[in-house]
Amino acid sequence: MRRAALFAWLRITLLTLLLALLCLYLLLALPHRVDWHSPVRVRIYPINADHQPATARHLASLDASSFADMERFFSREAKRYRLGLDKPILVELEPEVQSLPPAVPETPSILQSLWWALKMKLWVWQYDGWSAGGDIRIFMSFYAPGNPLGLQHSLGMQKGGIGLVNGFASAERQSVNNFVAAHELLHTLGASDKYDMQTGQPLWPDGFGDPVQTPLFPQQRAEIMGGRVQVSPGWALLPPSLDFAVVGSATAIEIGWLAVHE
Ligand SMILES: [Zn+2]
Repeated sequence: MRRAALFAWLRITLLTLLLALLCLYLLLALPHRVDWHSPVRVRIYPINADHQPATARHLASLDASSFADMERFFSREAKRYRLGLDKPILVELEPEVQSLPPAVPETPSILQSLWWALKMKLWVWQYDGWSAGGDIRIFMSFYAPGNPLGLQHSLGMQKGGIGLVNGFASAERQSVNNFVAAHELLHTLGASDKYDMQTGQPLWPDGFGDPVQTPLFPQQRAEIMGGRVQVSPGWALLPPSLDFAVVGSATAIEIGWLAVHE
């Protein structure tokens, strides 16, 4: 084969392969839709991410009650929006997962994102196949307290209804882990971030727990997608638990809790 012909052939093969990957990705990644007529099932899969004894001890101590504050938070907030569903989410604890999810690329190209999404799909598929149906799956990677990897970014994908949460393995930190899990869970339901990506500070008004209080500072609560309590103009704190969080009206609109009635 002549050199030019070989390159042409290579290019076409590569393009076909890319197209096939894209089709597969789109096929597998249908967006998650929830109508709130019945509770959304949320499956939590714990992972011992650093194989430390302290992490293992915390994992062994987890049971369904370790995530009860997530259910309470959704019930309380849904009631404020008159959702008519006592328990919008039902959290279930699944058995421990023995491997780590594929590492998230730092600043990925489109192709890298696609490749990661595919690897992620296959990784999730190992654990519960296609059986999860409309359930949302949160993979919670635990690190021993003090391990900086516990602070890695968490994420939630609406396509496929999958959340990846990183956190610390201790009873005291579990309420913060659940705050992060609720944030990522809301991403899977269509909510967007409401904080400044550069500074990490909540954006007013949508990212504030109480955007119209006077005086505006200090805020007492975090909007769940704002992610932090804005104590003063330059100072925002991660709240200790979901007791200090609300679903703001912009988030409520995004997840279908609040709509314009004609
Ligand atoms: Zn987020």
